[in-house]
Amino acid sequence: MRKTLITTAISAALMLSACSEPSTDATINSKAAETPTTMTKAPASVANVLLTPSPLQYMAPQFDKLQASDYLPAFEQGMLEHKAEIEAITNNSEAATFENTIVALEKTGAILDRTQRIFFNLSGLISDDNFTSVEEQIVPKLTAHQDNMYLDEKLFARIQAIYKNKATLTGEDLRLVEVYYDSFVRAGAELSPADKTKMRELNGQLAKLETSFSQNLLKSYKDDVIVVEDKAQLDGLSDSEIASLAAAAKDAGKTGYMITLVNTTAQPLLSSLKNRDLRKKLWETSAYRAMETNAPLNINIAKLRAQKANLLGYPTWAAYALGDQMAKTPEAVYGILDDLAPKALVKAKVEAADIQAEIVKEGQTFELAPWDWAFYAEKVRKAKYDLDDSQVKPYFEMNTVLNDGMFFAMNKLYGISVKPRNDLPVWHKDVSAYEIFNQDGSSIGLFYLDLYARQGKQGGAWMDELVSQSFLKNTQPVVYNALNIPKPAEGQPTLMTFDEVSTLFHEFGHAIHGLYSQVNYPSLAGTLTARDFVEFPSQANEDWSIDPQVLANYAKHYQTGEPIPAELLAKVLKAHTFNQGFGTVEYLSAALLDMEWHSITADTEITDVAAFEKQALAKHGLDYTPVPPRYKTTYFSHSFGGGYSAGYYAYLWTEVFAADSFSYMMSQGGLTLENGQKYRDTVLSKGNSQDLMQSYIDFAGKKPSTDALLKRRGLVH
Ligand SMILES: [Zn+2]
Repeated sequence: MRKTLITTAISAALMLSACSEPSTDATINSKAAETPTTMTKAPASVANVLLTPSPLQYMAPQFDKLQASDYLPAFEQGMLEHKAEIEAITNNSEAATFENTIVALEKTGAILDRTQRIFFNLSGLISDDNFTSVEEQIVPKLTAHQDNMYLDEKLFARIQAIYKNKATLTGEDLRLVEVYYDSFVRAGAELSPADKTKMRELNGQLAKLETSFSQNLLKSYKDDVIVVEDKAQLDGLSDSEIASLAAAAKDAGKTGYMITLVNTTAQPLLSSLKNRDLRKKLWETSAYRAMETNAPLNINIAKLRAQKANLLGYPTWAAYALGDQMAKTPEAVYGILDDLAPKALVKAKVEAADIQAEIVKEGQTFELAPWDWAFYAEKVRKAKYDLDDSQVKPYFEMNTVLNDGMFFAMNKLYGISVKPRNDLPVWHKDVSAYEIFNQDGSSIGLFYLDLYARQGKQGGAWMDELVSQSFLKNTQPVVYNALNIPKPAEGQPTLMTFDEVSTLFHEFGHAIHGLYSQVNYPSLAGTLTARDFVEFPSQANEDWSIDPQVLANYAKHYQTGEPIPAELLAKVLKAHTFNQGFGTVEYLSAALLDMEWHSITADTEITDVAAFEKQALAKHGLDYTPVPPRYKTTYFSHSFGGGYSAGYYAYLWTEVFAADSFSYMMSQGGLTLENGQKYRDTVLSKGNSQDLMQSYIDFAGKKPSTDALLKRRGLVH
């Protein structure tokens, strides 16, 4: 996923107030770099590195100089500065113009932008009690600050005046005005004073609940662990897996072996644990996590969102949330999900029958349960393809995958090269920093990679931007990828599963979307597109991991250096669509849950989250016990903790674009610099600076169709 900063709309608001400081880096061309007149004076406390632009290249954050005590004062000062800058704009006696209002707004909020990017990213990467405490204190204030801007009548009047004259504008300027106007209207700028007060109250309550939801979840990663005393129970795991469980227990001050949950319902170890009771325990710990703490919050959040949507004139939160997306309406989303659901379910039931046959073959009589699926699917895979993870993993050593796989593919496609930058400070010792260069040697930006799972790090994988590209501000991108690959025991190589390889490519697809951005305005840069567009470049990038030329270059045995045998490689490729019935059903179930929670009316009576889930899935024919949703309500961060509410469908929506674009590239010669350049010019560099469907059409010459998606998932042949 692409991480969205903190709760719902705050990031959007603060993104609109991006920073204005000129870069101090001499390597940037000197085009912009005007000192804004409204900038507040430098603070007395120079030790707080959040208060001044970083002197490092491209304003890379000074992670080594950050102190826990820096955040609160920087947020406070950032809000004051931003408020003063906005007042200067609204009090301008001259009539509103694009330059003196919209462009001026783009230049505001330097300290706040820097602080919130660093704080909210680090709070997902290295959270501790200090982050939790600052977050609790600051989120209500940020929410109120955001409302002050969006509900400011004088400011909106200026934006409205410019919007009415938008016919005089073209290109990116016009796009920016439309984005601003829509954001203000969608935040409640046209409401009556009484309704604006209600809006502030709702936003305040939601911000608190969403913060609590995320914090409960972070706490659950620490608390909901399974400690195994008897090594024999871990039968089926490899020596290195057992060693890392022992190391995890030791780190946590426990004896024995500790299994930590990952963010999805399914857990990686379920595919190899032979002990059925332990599998059941692991699965149940995962599926029922945060039930007591988060279930009441889920119900409240869903209802408050419905109320907020009503206030803005929409029947449901889903209708509101989809209003500015490519899909536009809930009907369009249900349409695509419901169309795929029966096809996927048929495939999943065929897979289940194969699995049940495996169970019977073992002389067992039990009926397939969710905690059995991965374990027996692995056996089916072995039988069908003569392939299992332990055979394949030695060919996917992390450094080789990264350098000879992903960076190699990116070089073939875009001509880019990558240089480690060990001189730059990082937020954790396991993080690597790189500088990315064009083929002509010019520097694009900085990229950090944070691969390993650890306590205090949010689950899953994501990308975000620490500094976004803008010609107006003369900034170049600084982006990062975070994954959650289990860290091997000391001295052991990191051997990846094929899924992890795919995730690495996925997240780098977001990274290049941020890195290749070539726009004027920070609000339109890089990955700041509609949610149901932003997962297109990332999913498109996944497919390069299975390009034969790329695979042949990186899939090499970590001990012998031997390339993966052709026969094994053929099996890996053939097995790629294995278990896609399961994968598609678990995804669709989660996407439909997300939609159903956000299709309720404000007065809907809900007392039991589990009952709501069951009913919602039954409504769409997906109440199929062996394949539970990829995320259940109480740990569904996309839906309740971040900016993907009524938006989880976006992965499927964008996969249509990804699959279609990949098949188009293949028809044009595949992995070539010409294809890469065209894609970069028409899609990746554009950010949100033009209509998104137009970007796609500029690239592929037509709108996408679902044919390639169905083939990609192996749902048709
Ligand atoms: Zn993503």
